[in-house]
Formats: sequence, C-alpha cells, structure tokens
Amino acid sequence: MAWRCSGSTNAQLVENLWRNGLITDTRARAAFLKVDRAHYAPVQPYEDSPQSIGYHATISAPHMHAMAIENVISHLVPSEKNPAPRVLDVGSGSGYLTHLFAELVGPRGLVVGLEHLNPLRDLGQSNMQKSNEGKQLLDSGKVKFRLGDGRMGLHEPAISGEEDQGTGWNVIHVGASAKILHSALMQQLKAPGCMFIPLDDDDTGTEQSVWRISKDESGVVSKENLCAVRYVRLTDPPV
Ligand code: SAH
Repeated sequence: MAWRCSGSTNAQLVENLWRNGLITDTRARAAFLKVDRAHYAPVQPYEDSPQSIGYHATISAPHMHAMAIENVISHLVPSEKNPAPRVLDVGSGSGYLTHLFAELVGPRGLVVGLEHLNPLRDLGQSNMQKSNEGKQLLDSGKVKFRLGDGRMGLHEPAISGEEDQGTGWNVIHVGASAKILHSALMQQLKAPGCMFIPLDDDDTGTEQSVWRISKDESGVVSKENLCAVRYVRLTDPPV
C-alpha cells in the first residue's frame, strides 16, 4: 500500500490513501482534503514519498502522516468529555501534520508544533501562512510553533478564555525517532491520552519501530508496536 498512493493533485493523493485503506476515517479524509500538501512539500507534493525540507529534515510520506492521524484520532477530535483537545507535534518540520491536527481538534482545541531548529520552526509557520485557512488558525491562537528540545516536551498554558486543564497533552506526536521513551513526554501525556512515537530498536538507530503508547482514564499505560519505520532521529540540534 505504501508508495502506491501518489496522485497528480491533492484530491487524487487523498483518494488513493482512502482507496488503499491508509485513511479510513471520514474526519481524517476531510482534513487531508482541506490541507494542500503543495504548501509544505517543495517538489512533487502529491507523491507518496518523504522529501527533504533542508536542515537534514524531511517531510514524512503522506501514508505515514495518514497512519499517525488514524492512530490518534479518537483523542484528537473534540468530544463531550473533552471539548478542547491539546496536541503536541514534536519535530514539526514542514508544519503539514501540525496543520492537519489543527483541522481536527475543533474550535476549542490547541495544537503546538515544537522544533529544535529555529529555521524549521519558522518554516512550519510560514508554510501555514500560505493558505487562508492556515492563516486563520494561526491568528486564532489555537496553533503555535515553538522552539525547544522535544525530548523535554513542553509546558504550554491554555489559550486565554479556555478552561485551564493543566499543561499536559491528549495527543503527542513525535516526528523523529527517539532513543528512549522520554520520561518528560510520558509525564505530560494526559490520562486518557495517546502518543505516536518512533523508537530506535537498538543503539545504532538503523532499525526503528513506531509505537502507539496509550494511557487510559486511570493512567494505565499500554504499548503497541505498529510497524518498522525509517525516520530522522530525535537529537541534540546540530552544531
Ligand atoms: N513531521 C515533520 C517531520 C520533520 S523531520 C514533517 O513531516 O514535516 C523530523 C524533525 O524533527 C526535524 O524537523 C528535526 O529538526 C526535528 N527534531 C529532531 N530532533 C529534535 C528535538 N530534540 N527536538 C525537537 N525537534 C527535533
């Protein structure tokens, strides 16, 4: 299925992700249709492949973004219990997935893209400015791009006017492979909450697997190995 989803327009790419079962949720499909990948991927935006965005970073392949969203969607969309989901996108890079998240969290949700490189923090934000929808989301304050070490997570207060429900996150997405499941990220994951994180299988980091880490309402953690992947690594910023 992977690599088979390329199209020549955004709509075709999304249709192929749908037809191949990479997107199965209609809310996810609607979000993918709203966000034009051409604003985020510099060349051949509708190809189902990762692409360089500079600074040794890549925008992940569309099928990986689809997989990430499908795996966290129940914690991403607003519900009666949680009308204002909080989402942290570590290693936001191009900003594409950050924008997709923002389309899904509802009018009261908060999405923060976190980068350790300032030019990439800026890139995510400026890519999002390319569409009116993106601009409005940024202006509303419900999407922010922050600078910091994603291994430490982030303490971000509620948007003004929104009920203070602490600084934790209902969803944490990590866009780079981590050596370990960092304790700060685990602490900041709310109960209930869900993390999508690629982890190195060994010290070399050549083999990696992506995991879904879930916390239930009483804080009980479960871990599921989803598949083998190849991501940029979650590191110190290059000197
Ligand atoms: N989700 C992004 C992926 C970008 S590649 C996209 O699809 O566009 C991974 C990103 O992780 C890079 O932008 C890199 O700068 C960032 N990164 C690596 N280590 C990091 C760290 N310790 N803290 C925050 N970001 C980090």
